[in-house]
Amino acid sequence: MATMKKTSALIAAAAASTLTLTACSTTEPGADGSASAEGALTVATAFYPLQFVAEQVGGDRIVVVSMTPAGVEPHDVELSPATARQLGTADLALYLSEFQPAVDDAISTTGVEALDAAEVIELHAAEEHADEEGEDEHDHGSSDPHFWLDPDLLAHLADAVGEAFATADPDNADTYTANAATLHAALEDLDNQYATGLAQCERDTIVTGHEAFGYLAEAYGLHQEGIAGLDPESEPSPARILEIKDIIAETGATTIFTEDAVSASVAEALASDVGVETEVLSPVETVADGDDYIGVMTRNLSVLEDALGCE
Ligand SMILES: [Zn+2]
Repeated sequence: MATMKKTSALIAAAAASTLTLTACSTTEPGADGSASAEGALTVATAFYPLQFVAEQVGGDRIVVVSMTPAGVEPHDVELSPATARQLGTADLALYLSEFQPAVDDAISTTGVEALDAAEVIELHAAEEHADEEGEDEHDHGSSDPHFWLDPDLLAHLADAVGEAFATADPDNADTYTANAATLHAALEDLDNQYATGLAQCERDTIVTGHEAFGYLAEAYGLHQEGIAGLDPESEPSPARILEIKDIIAETGATTIFTEDAVSASVAEALASDVGVETEVLSPVETVADGDDYIGVMTRNLSVLEDALGCE
């Protein structure tokens, strides 16, 4: 637990320097998008984990404008004209192509300077379930967007964001590089806690609502079975529900993981039908006020350890 305290202290130190900024960084749509602090870099972020990286790396040298409002599930987010305008006037945008078509459109329309996380991280191909219904062909292209649930991959993005900020604002390059290194170290620490915490478990199958945990499962030797697909709005077929019941029976799974931002009615009905628990496992697509990526991921780990019977 000593390492956990160290991480919290690191993040607390980093957070303290960004606290004032964070408080005023969720700018209201309708503002002209120009930076409030003189000389500051304005960075538009497409959804929460990218916002977290920008805030940690940029500290008080940048103003962050989030394209996905707090509490909103980011898949297929709609942008108001005011938000699209803010995106267009940012110095730099951070996004993930083929995850949020409205953001892709606004970036190509406005021609804003942008860092695409898909250019930094090698995304995995999406797993196909032949029996899934309601999957549009344009949904997420053919790759799984949820790379941020592997802390090691998010650490690689932190490095790239540090470089991008340093290029956009060379006067503060040293600060961005140092902050990126601090974040990288905190994420590596989290990665180590996961690897250790999930090393010896009675079970290794996680039954989830939407299939957000593929990268996490691969990184730590787990096996994910999603009730719905990669998109939280997709409806599972009756055939998939039956399959999940068989999987729960075969693996002895004790828990169906639901999430905070979307309805869990299908998962809850299924859980009560087969007599297992539901627990919230957050895909960290949005976080509650006062929470952050490290905090939510640390809670996720302890939920997983309990449900999987880890030593
Ligand atoms: Zn998702």
